[in-house]
Amino acid sequence: MRIDVMTLFPEMFEGVFNSSILGKAKDKGIVQLGTVNFRDYANNKHNTVDDYPYGGGGGMVLKAEPLFTAVESLTAQLQESAGSDEPVKKPRVILMCPQGEPFSQRKAEELSQEEHLIFVCGHYEGYDERIREFLVTDELSIGDYVLTGGELPAMVMIDAVVRLKPGVLGNEMSAVTDSFSTGLLEYPQYTRPVEFRDMRVPDILMSGHHKNIDAWRRQQSFLRTLKRRPDMLEGRKLSKEEAQWKREYEQELREKK
Ligand code: SAM
Repeated sequence: MRIDVMTLFPEMFEGVFNSSILGKAKDKGIVQLGTVNFRDYANNKHNTVDDYPYGGGGGMVLKAEPLFTAVESLTAQLQESAGSDEPVKKPRVILMCPQGEPFSQRKAEELSQEEHLIFVCGHYEGYDERIREFLVTDELSIGDYVLTGGELPAMVMIDAVVRLKPGVLGNEMSAVTDSFSTGLLEYPQYTRPVEFRDMRVPDILMSGHHKNIDAWRRQQSFLRTLKRRPDMLEGRKLSKEEAQWKREYEQELREKK
C-alpha cells in the first residue's frame, strides 16, 4: 500500500510517520508513506496557493491549480516508475473536510483494501469548489468541529487505516477485538496485580475457564455498548443472550428509580 499526503506542512508528519505502529509498518515495507508540499506546484512568483473568494467575503480560498497539478504529477511519476503500458490503478483522493462523511472504523476497513490513497489537507477558509467536484473521490471528516488544517485529521485516518493491514500489529495488539470492529465496544481489561488498593480483578478472569471468560467478555462488551453507545445497537438483531442481558439491565434501571 502507498499513502501520500498533499500538505503545506510536511514537517508535521515526520514524527508521526516515523514512530510507533506507522514507523514499524513503513520499516517492514507494508506501507510507503510520503508527503508532497503542493506549494511547490504554485506556478507563480510568490508561490501562493490561496486567493480571495469570488463574490467577496472573509477568508482565503485554496486555489485549484496547485492541487490538481500536484496530484497529476504524482500519479504520472508512479505510472512512469511502474514502467509498464498498463495504467496504474487510480488512487482514492481523499479531501479532509469538516463537511465530509464522518470517518468510521468501517471506512478505515474499506480504505485499508486500497493500493494507493492520497490525502488532501486544506488550510485557510475553504477550497475552490472545483477541487471537490473534479479532483477528489471522497470527502471525510473526523468530527463536528473545525480544526485549522487537514493535517491532524489525515494523521488520524492514516493511523486507523494502516493498523488494519495484515502484519502491522503484533499478537500483543489485535485489531479484531477492538471497539467498533465487532460492532460493539471492547470489554474491560485487567492486568497484574490481582488486588490494587482494595480494588480486585473480577474472579471470573482468574478462573482459567475459557468458555465462561468468553461469555463474560461478550456480556460486558454488550452491556458497555448498551450503556455508553446505545446508538450502535440500533438495527442490530440481538441474540437470545443479548436480549436477556438487555432485559436484565432495563429491570435494574427500573429498580433503581
Ligand atoms: N471554512 C471551512 C468550513 O466551514 O467547512 C473550514 C475550514 S478549516 C479552518 C481548514 C481545513 O481544516 C479544512 O479545509 C480541512 O482540510 C481541515 N479540517 C478542519 N476541521 C476538520 C474536520 N473536522 N475533519 C476533517 N478536516 C478538517
